[in-house]
Amino acid sequence: MRVEEDAVAYALYCIFWGGRWWGDCPPSPTPTSTPTPTNTPISTPTPTNTPIPTNTPTPTLTPTPTPEGGSQEALQPIPWGVNRVDADNVWALTTANNIKVAIIDTGIDLDHPDLEANIKGGRNTIRTSRSADDDNGHGTHVAGTVAGVNNSIGVVGVGHQIDLYAVKALDRRGSGYVSDIIEGIQWSIDNNMNVINMSLGTSSNVTAFHDAVIAARNAGIVVVSAAGNSGPGNNTVIYPAKYPESIAISATTSSDGFASFSSSGPEVDLAAPGNSIYSTYRNGGYTTMSGTSMATPHVAGAAAMVLSTHPGFTPSQVQSHLQNNAEWLSGLSSNQQGSGLVDVEKAVSSP
Ligand code: CA
Repeated sequence: MRVEEDAVAYALYCIFWGGRWWGDCPPSPTPTSTPTPTNTPISTPTPTNTPIPTNTPTPTLTPTPTPEGGSQEALQPIPWGVNRVDADNVWALTTANNIKVAIIDTGIDLDHPDLEANIKGGRNTIRTSRSADDDNGHGTHVAGTVAGVNNSIGVVGVGHQIDLYAVKALDRRGSGYVSDIIEGIQWSIDNNMNVINMSLGTSSNVTAFHDAVIAARNAGIVVVSAAGNSGPGNNTVIYPAKYPESIAISATTSSDGFASFSSSGPEVDLAAPGNSIYSTYRNGGYTTMSGTSMATPHVAGAAAMVLSTHPGFTPSQVQSHLQNNAEWLSGLSSNQQGSGLVDVEKAVSSP
């Protein structure tokens, strides 16, 4: 079923492939106006016809040994973003076990060895008879940043025992109907999710989309959304991040700069690492991607971590707690970073 005023939303990322960036991220930021939603695919390449880029360079890994299990080798470097938000500093305190995070996206690689243990369910809202397995890669990448498993391989997520739920509402090209995303939000409400991650967006303001985000927030779900990859300008945040009931996330670089592709504007609530992020990918792989899509799961994971140490917090309390404990980046404006860079250690540790 399609709602009366449907639109197309897009995964907000680009990918490093064969020695260069593809998509609408660096080196060429997109124009300030977001594309009008049509049925044409986004400008990112379709990854299905190319080999999985496991051999692509992984520029900014922090080769820190895993904090648990002293016998592990340093085969699971902590991605720079997870390290930058200081998630690893509080894993002795919590790993957000049993907190439920719905990834509304292209699905998740359901048998990925670095995710499978944390995947507890899901839904395909495009074709409900099919699984929520990821035929694109984007949702799997997002999921790895939230909850990559702490083992001796690959990556590790912000909260590595978070319960992941794969809600497939975007197709293999990384685009999808807002009506299918709304269906995913409703599924998340019906199945008692604690957090929704939406690394997607549209320039269209669809009333039913806003109503669904409000309903989720009223149901006690923390909604975290990507600000958009619409580049410079002070008013480039897209929907659903633009809705006040969603926490809107912009993207930073490993040197604490503002990512050139990231949207900015008064709706931005928090910033998070979003440039050259290494994470899980489809077919059991790993790759490096950039976008506010990659920043958003750092905050979804942070929200889950806060909920585990502050049970009973409402979505508004989680949001203000994350904002009050954020790290202000001196080189960025408030339109660029909102309250600052998300700080998991401080948020989890503060009463
Ligand atoms: Ca791992």
